[in-house]
Amino acid sequence: MIRIIRIIFMYNNQPKKEKKCFFCSNQVEDVDYKDTRLLRGFVNFHMKILPAKRTGVCAWHQRKLSQAVKRSRIMALLSTTHQ
Ligand SMILES: [Zn+2]
Repeated sequence: MIRIIRIIFMYNNQPKKEKKCFFCSNQVEDVDYKDTRLLRGFVNFHMKILPAKRTGVCAWHQRKLSQAVKRSRIMALLSTTHQ
């Protein structure tokens, strides 16, 4: 089984899909902490902030995003945990 996976991996020469930053492509400067609908897309089931590697958000916007999520938690707009 491992051998088959390795062979598939070896012959997979398709170019990797480049992820674009959601905020850069939509020209969003500041991430609004009141926009919970948007922020909900960048946290997982357990309300943890997703890494930039997974969402494709650039480093600058990831910093803004994490700050916005934390602000939203303090203002009780976004829940801190899943119950
Ligand atoms: Zn960006």
